[in-house]
Amino acid sequence: MEALGTFIQKLSLPRKIIITTHVKPDADALGSSLGLSNYLIKKGHEVTVISPSDYPNFLTWMKGNEKVLDFSKEAHKKQALRKLEEAEVIFCLDFSVLNRVNELGELIRQSKAYIVNIDHHQDPEDFAQFRLWSTAAAATCELVYELIVTLGDKELIDKSIASCLYAGILTDTGGFRHPNTTKNVHLVVAELLEAGANATEIANLIYDSNSLNRLKFIGFALTRRLVVREDLHLAYFAITKKDLKKYQSQTGDTEGLVNYALSLEGVKMAALFSEREDGIKISFRSSVDVAVNKFAAAHFGGGGHKNAAGGKSGLSLKKTLARFEALVQEQQIELFSS
Ligand code: 5GP
Ligand code: MN
Repeated sequence: MEALGTFIQKLSLPRKIIITTHVKPDADALGSSLGLSNYLIKKGHEVTVISPSDYPNFLTWMKGNEKVLDFSKEAHKKQALRKLEEAEVIFCLDFSVLNRVNELGELIRQSKAYIVNIDHHQDPEDFAQFRLWSTAAAATCELVYELIVTLGDKELIDKSIASCLYAGILTDTGGFRHPNTTKNVHLVVAELLEAGANATEIANLIYDSNSLNRLKFIGFALTRRLVVREDLHLAYFAITKKDLKKYQSQTGDTEGLVNYALSLEGVKMAALFSEREDGIKISFRSSVDVAVNKFAAAHFGGGGHKNAAGGKSGLSLKKTLARFEALVQEQQIELFSS
């Protein structure tokens, strides 16, 4: 691992830069990518943001969104590959294991570019020459803000950069509710508001842009697809491919659903299983004392944060659920005793 000095030196000349983030980017992933991109462009660099997949419509207001290349789209892939080949610096934001970016992972591993990793997830892989990593940070956007300040460029943070960074902090703290909502979070957010971010506007763009289909889907999921196991302090949703089709589900439509399960009184662990083309995607959430990232890593090839993690399963939905319940039953003392 090299020091900050080398990193600063690398960026002292105009560079060809790629910024990438994890598959199905959320507000922190896209906000940190576009916030950093808008800043680096101001510094004279040539920057391309590549996402491994599409992302929800409620994030498309961010400045620079129209230029993001979606690596899963044939129409963008060629250009993205060319940009990757030319890249002198690659920033990897909001993830720290290369399997979070699908095929891009191998390309990053093999790249001759200077790799930078900025992230706040646990158990990072060692693939970067420079790492700005802290699990104490609530969001990658918080780290990007601090990096810009460390580089002496606080005054370059304008309304659009501040808005991107604010969005990531807003959502990764669950609207300033999760235990990661520290004094520093509020201090950073105060500076972002000062720089022009509008809290009401951003909250509206992110939280108040539901389609009628999505609201109906949430109603359906709550009435028909929620399983509560009081004996295990557990509640989870199991959503089939058919359900997603019936409600014309768009990317992002299942986001936040798992929190309804966790909000049930007495529930310490919640999950959302959704049947996708490439297998079962799982979201885990937990109350403060339960470490779902360890559970996700041990049993579902995933990871994340202590109270918000994800994973996947190659089994059928039915078999995945049976395995999940058996694992929770088996491990409940370990899971719920701390
Ligand atoms: P979500 O449930 O919102 O998709 O993800 C919750 C958290 O877990 C996020 O911080 C996300 O980055 C992380 N996460 C989700 N899926 C995976 C996964 O498959 N592997 C790892 N390492 N982290 C994941
Ligand atoms: Mn994040």
